[in-house]
Amino acid sequence: MSPRPADFATRAIHHGYRAEENQGALVPPIHVSATFGFPDSASAAACFAGERPGYIYTRIANPTLDLLEQRIAALEQAEAAVAFASGMGAITATLWTLLSPGDEILVDTTLYGCTFSFLHHGLARFGVRVRHVDLTRPEALAEAFSPATRIVYFETPANPNMRIVDIAAVAEQAKARGALVVVDNTYCSPFLQRPLTLGADIVVHSATKYLGGHGDLTAGLVATSAELATRIRMEGLKDLTGAALSPHDAHGILRGLKTLHLRMERHCDNAQAIAEWLEAHPAVASVAFPGLASHPQHALAARQMDRFGGMLAFELHGGLLAGQRFMDALELITRAVSLGDAETLAQHPASMTHSTYSPEQRAAHGISEGLIRLSAGLEHIDDILADLARALDFAAVAPLSVAA
Ligand SMILES: *Cc1c(COP(=O)(O)O)cnc(C)c1O
Repeated sequence: MSPRPADFATRAIHHGYRAEENQGALVPPIHVSATFGFPDSASAAACFAGERPGYIYTRIANPTLDLLEQRIAALEQAEAAVAFASGMGAITATLWTLLSPGDEILVDTTLYGCTFSFLHHGLARFGVRVRHVDLTRPEALAEAFSPATRIVYFETPANPNMRIVDIAAVAEQAKARGALVVVDNTYCSPFLQRPLTLGADIVVHSATKYLGGHGDLTAGLVATSAELATRIRMEGLKDLTGAALSPHDAHGILRGLKTLHLRMERHCDNAQAIAEWLEAHPAVASVAFPGLASHPQHALAARQMDRFGGMLAFELHGGLLAGQRFMDALELITRAVSLGDAETLAQHPASMTHSTYSPEQRAAHGISEGLIRLSAGLEHIDDILADLARALDFAAVAPLSVAA
């Protein structure tokens, strides 16, 4: 009988590392070397030919990056993983590797902004057709496939309204058509959702967010089959982007991973409590959080995710002005993009990420004027709610010119 596989937390702390092979060091060493020497020309030749494992140059592989990659593969239940300098490095390297002119990629209607830009200003310029489909309706996918479709790409939950895509349903259809399914799992981390076990082929991450968890580095990861990982490493990473992760930052993620399970539980607890509290507040028109019974895909989220995550969005009564007043009144919560940090972060798209759009353009992207996105941090819930209460009271005061 094989031994019971180690629990997630134990893998996140131990997988792939043996202290006795590293002079007893509890913490894995950071290998800063950019290049690696060979004992003789025959072993160099074997290594370059791929006939023998070994390190050549850190843009291809490095022992510290290797450990991080093995650990993420163990957490995502993948055969292999590849580390990158940013989430965008991971996403672009994956898609550059797998797509050629004439190919088509089907993507969800809602995407992380830079992914959207890469598709339309990058891939599209090189002859790849990009088509948007509402993947919350997997039945719409059947009509969208064409003989040129190579990849179906999406995020779940997706910003800003926390839409959920049924990973298994999309993967089943894509598999039948010979297309690969790529899921951006940044919002969940493998602690909450493992898309490969639901039929997806490739998982991409911005490790800048929950995996690193401390807002002090940028990094990306891809987890997939050994075969696809080798292609993405030898084409997308080595030649097409060169987006190699610093070994120092790999160490930062390895440190973050040790507490991922503890942090995610608290992020989830806080987000659930904030969402329920906001939903009952008179200044709030609506709350988008998959852990609320009012979320239209609550049942799907409960099936697909282990818990509901640390991200939520809510709509203030009073539009743009209420949004600005709310943001300006925050004292504990940081006005910032990004997510997954110890600090609670608030983002008002109409005055931040989408401030250069017209109100009509924002509406077309599903972004209303009073929409606030929140990344629930790890602070005590009472302190977060107190800051929200103060800011909501301030936002709800009608402007004098109107009231007078
Ligand atoms: C942040 C983010 C990215 C991009 O990652 P970087 O590390 O900033 O390059 C991609 N997808 C999602 C969902 C993100 O939140």
